[in-house]
Amino acid sequence: MSAFNAFQESKLRQLQDELRQSRPDAANEVQRKGVSLCGSALTEVDGVTVVIKPTGRSPRGGFVVPAVRTYHKDSLDAAVSASRDFAEQRSRDLDLDRGGLKNPCEWERGHFGPIVKIDWSCNSPDCPCNNGEEIGWRRYRSLEIPKPMTRRKAS
Ligand SMILES: [Zn+2]
Repeated sequence: MSAFNAFQESKLRQLQDELRQSRPDAANEVQRKGVSLCGSALTEVDGVTVVIKPTGRSPRGGFVVPAVRTYHKDSLDAAVSASRDFAEQRSRDLDLDRGGLKNPCEWERGHFGPIVKIDWSCNSPDCPCNNGEEIGWRRYRSLEIPKPMTRRKAS
């Protein structure tokens, strides 16, 4: 596994400090969970993957929660509340299932499972990322890159 860079190490400390202050329930030591081919560093907050980008300038920026499709203006807040946001997303999706409004498989962003690996697939076998989705689309799903122009699935 390649190492977190200096920026990512400083962001990991920032996240740890913020958790100690605002979420002592989830403030156990944040771990280094791997680095993707493109240099994104992975950690976990309360059972949900948080990505630290390779660079950034915004003081509270640099974080992404790949499983959660909701957009946050302040990405440090998004990282701190990752598990709550993921739980809310899942319950919204399940409500939609019951109401028959939209199949969550149609969502192009976010994941069904809270843990996302460095290949941008998650820990839910039902998630589209684990059912033939191309790497570019998995990265898009994980809020890594803009929408690809290629086909979503291998055929
Ligand atoms: Zn997934």
